[in-house]
Amino acid sequence: MSPPKLSEVYRTYQQPESVTMAAVMRQHGLKPVVLGETLAALSGMGIYVQAIRIMVPRSQVLEARALVAIIQAEAEIPVTDTLLNCPACNSVWEPGFEVCWQCQAQRG
Ligand SMILES: [Zn+2]
Repeated sequence: MSPPKLSEVYRTYQQPESVTMAAVMRQHGLKPVVLGETLAALSGMGIYVQAIRIMVPRSQVLEARALVAIIQAEAEIPVTDTLLNCPACNSVWEPGFEVCWQCQAQRG
């Protein structure tokens, strides 16, 4: 079985942004593939010279683009170095909080 063709749905120079986008896509059942993340991290100092690209299988492009639009319209994309998913309910953890906004689980 060959891997599915991937299409780019989002591009950023901010790694935390790419992490957020990918996390939200996964929550919605998509299968994002983040390219360039490792190189961007290696460049260090928060200055990323290579764009980080989020790719999804072609069958998920429309849904992924809709999600990107919603995220950009409704949410300030948090700039933080750690963005985690709740171990209990898998919600994206709000940065700076010690408990999950969704289920109040304690940060592990
Ligand atoms: Zn939770």
